[in-house]
Formats: sequence, C-alpha cells, structure tokens
Amino acid sequence: MAEPKYKRILLKLSGEALMGEGKYGIDTNTLSQIASEVKEVIELGVEVALVIGGGNIFRGVSGAAKGMDRSSADYMGMLATVINSLALQDALEKIDVSTRVQSAIEMRQVAEPYIRRRASRHLEKHRVVIFAAGTGNPFFTTDTAAALRAMEIRADVMLKATKVDGVYTADPMKDKSARRYATLSYMDVLQKELKVMDATAVSLCMDNDMPLVVFDLTSPGNVLRVVKGEDVGTLVGKIPTNIA
Ligand code: UDP
Repeated sequence: MAEPKYKRILLKLSGEALMGEGKYGIDTNTLSQIASEVKEVIELGVEVALVIGGGNIFRGVSGAAKGMDRSSADYMGMLATVINSLALQDALEKIDVSTRVQSAIEMRQVAEPYIRRRASRHLEKHRVVIFAAGTGNPFFTTDTAAALRAMEIRADVMLKATKVDGVYTADPMKDKSARRYATLSYMDVLQKELKVMDATAVSLCMDNDMPLVVFDLTSPGNVLRVVKGEDVGTLVGKIPTNIA
C-alpha cells in the first residue's frame, strides 16, 4: 500500500458537518459516517487530531446580533463545540477508535484540560485527540483554533472539511464557469478575499508555513484520498496559484 503523504494531520470540521440533512444539531448517521472516515485514516498509521466547530448549535456572532454580550455569546459557542466533540468521541469509541477530548476551557469531569505535550503523547500512541472549546478565548473562531493547534502539535497539514470540493474562482452553485483552484497561495486567499477561512486563521497558517487542504467531506472516502496525496480539493500554501 502507498505510504500516506502526511504522518500527522489536524482535521477541522465545521459544526454544520454534523447536521447531515438537518437544519440544527447532530445527525447520528452523519456522525458515524465521519467517524468511520477517521478510522480509515488511523488504520493507515496516520496520527489524527480533530477540531470541531459549533455552528450547528450556537455561534457567538448570531447571539451578539440579537443583543447578547459578544463575549458571553462566544463562550456559549465554545461550549457548543464541546458538545460536538463529545458526540464525535462517542461515535469513534463505538467503532473502537481510542480517543481523548482536550478542552481549552477546563471541565475535568468531561474532558482533559488542553496540555500540548500530553496531546502529542496521545497522538504518538495513535489516539485521536479532539480539541474542544476552540482557543478558549472569545472573538476567535474554531478555524483559528484549528490553525493554532495544528502548529502546536506540529501537524504536517491542516485539512479543512467543507461541502464543496475545494476553493473555486466563483460560487460553483451559481456560476457554471467557476473553476477549482488546484493550488492557492496564502496571499491570493487574503487579497482575493476567498472564503477559505477567516483572515486570522489564514494569516496564522501563512506566518508559520502550515499547509492547508480545503476539501469536500460529503464525498465518502475523501479524507483518505487527501491523506494519500490524491488531487482532491485545493492545497493552500507558500506555492503559486494554479487552476485545476
Ligand atoms: N468560539 C470562540 N473562540 C474560539 C472558537 C470558537 O469564541 O476560539 C465561539 C464563537 O462564538 C463561534 C462558536 O464558538 O461562533 C462556534 O465556532 P465556529 O463558528 O468556528 O464553528 P463552525 O462555523 O466551524 O461550525
């Protein structure tokens, strides 16, 4: 079997990835599907860390838009990511994948506190580490948390799961002439204001040379394809921009 391209990955899922066809919350079938994709990658010998968003439950900005204090709303958002992390932990453990949840906000009854060295040790032992509660700070996103953790654990790559197969020149749902970027430079992402991640997360990756692959999680087997280095999605890095 071909060697995987990456040995240690950080996979970022949005909270919405857990909703399936639903409009809110967690769909257990979707959860199992994602868990089995992660298992395939673990079985290749790849070390996997996960960050999950909370948008399927609560987002700070929408709370703030309704008049809540932004920081309070963001803490609610971070707690939503803990709910999602525990759900994914459960789905992974059900299929015999060993996991640890580490939370950036201490809640020792449900998760370990975030300790970088301990996280690395878990990864070396091929446990999936799920980083919950974002960065632990309001005014950030889980994309930024994912970029930060990817750097801290020295991941080879950050994989950003979305509903589209990479980054396009225009919205492929609306514009038939839209083309997929095979590769993108960080600068182009920022200057063209491409909707890859928020600017804080992209800048963090750029400043620390963390490559990023944006890919479609809704196609079964895609996580494995990306890890094997197949031409899936868009690779963002210190590289020239190229259309597929
Ligand atoms: N959040 C935060 N700090 C962080 C990460 C997340 O305050 O470091 C809050 C923020 O309110 C955010 C919510 O948690 O809206 C859920 O995360 P996010 O919106 O990134 O989830 P996703 O869009 O990936 O589902």
